[in-house]
Amino acid sequence: MGNSATEETQQTEGSVIICGAGIAGLTLAWWMDRIGWDVLVLEIASGLRDEGYMIDFLSSGYDVAERMDLIHRLEEVQQPVSEVVNVNENGERVSEMDYELFRQLQNERLLALMRGDLERELHAALSDDVEIRYGLTVDEVQQDEQAVDVTLSDGTRESVELLVGADGIHSRVRELVFGDESQYLRYLNYHTGAFIFEDESIRRKLDGQFQNLTVPNRTIGCYPLQDGTLATFFVHRTPNAERPPSPCQTLKQRYGDLDWIVPELLEHCTDVDSIYYDQVAQIELPRWSKGRVTLVGDACQAVSLLAGQGASLAMGGAYVLAQKLRDDGPIEERLNRYESHMKPEIQEKQAAGRRAAKWLFPPSQWHITVRDTALKVARYPGGSHLLKPVLKMGTESVVNGI
Ligand SMILES: Cc1cc2nc3c(=O)[nH]c(=O)nc-3n(C[C@H](O)[C@H](O)[C@H](O)COP(=O)(O)OP(=O)(O)OC[C@H]3O[C@@H](n4cnc5c(N)ncnc54)[C@H](O)[C@@H]3O)c2cc1C
Repeated sequence: MGNSATEETQQTEGSVIICGAGIAGLTLAWWMDRIGWDVLVLEIASGLRDEGYMIDFLSSGYDVAERMDLIHRLEEVQQPVSEVVNVNENGERVSEMDYELFRQLQNERLLALMRGDLERELHAALSDDVEIRYGLTVDEVQQDEQAVDVTLSDGTRESVELLVGADGIHSRVRELVFGDESQYLRYLNYHTGAFIFEDESIRRKLDGQFQNLTVPNRTIGCYPLQDGTLATFFVHRTPNAERPPSPCQTLKQRYGDLDWIVPELLEHCTDVDSIYYDQVAQIELPRWSKGRVTLVGDACQAVSLLAGQGASLAMGGAYVLAQKLRDDGPIEERLNRYESHMKPEIQEKQAAGRRAAKWLFPPSQWHITVRDTALKVARYPGGSHLLKPVLKMGTESVVNGI
């Protein structure tokens, strides 16, 4: 069992730059500060953001948040979800996924959170000793046996004992230290987009439900949020990995022919900063560290939305890294222990995610019918055992025993 927040001891360990104030970066900053490092976080965005869609927060993420005494705060910002309703183009219910069953299978340790809310709570939990500089990135990295010299995008130079790239799937630190992204990114043949908007008429139509429309190779979801807004997401299959210059134009082209509430949803898409759009991809890297530079979260272990849990695993990875850094021995050895612990778990979850693809985002009407039939059978008494292996798949915590 890991250390609770109150059991930590204070000692000066050295200084670290964490590039990226997302889920992994903020979690790591909290733990590194806690165990006595001087922490500087760099974030390319100008501040905290609300973009993205709802995440199932469970397993490793839940365990780490509990050790940070954050669960109570996260419970307050969770979204109320009891089921996910699949509808057809007329808006009629065709099947549903019982979120309560999922919650039971996780021993009630599951929260439906907006990514932005999780980020905000992690940020609020940081002590004043952690410095965050927004609007900045890393331009140059040089290292020797004693230190890493980092040149920031404003020209400032910093010398630290450790540099961590927590800057997401398109990591700049990874590019500078390990090489071009194309060597490490496994494109999974889908693109995804998500945005948050306001619309009273759509809110009434959803009637409080999380609804999904699936047609072959395309899925659109929409759900009401606690604060009166709505969130929507789109996932479609495409062989073209390249991210389009205008995500909204692409969504309009790809989904403009569909009924249900899709035309109204698309009217709210205006290429402003608040749209999240990206390839669905995984990161596979032969080594996660080089000397005094290491990676955490999606930068080295992205599992993709097919596997879910990206944010939970990012918190798990950040926790394991901080705990392994407390061990004795040269820093390179401690970083190796972090990687050896994490990598097999991540590889398993990535493979499970790839296997789940055709059921999550069915490629044909036949796959959609099989999915809906299985979901219907699961509603009958005793039928839920059908779904248990799927809902439990790959959700083991990476922080067990650490
Ligand atoms: C705005 C946003 C919306 C997202 N929405 C979704 C979603 O809807 N669905 C989904 O499956 N996943 C989404 N993700 C990814 C998901 O949150 C991550 O898979 C998961 O949380 C892993 O966390 P991470 O901290 O490793 O990476 P991220 O959460 O991606 O965090 C990386 C952080 O590094 C920052 N950063 C990036 N480049 C640089 C740079 N060069 N220099 C400094 N900082 C940099 C980013 O702004 C971000 O704050 C989103 C990520 C972001 C940033």
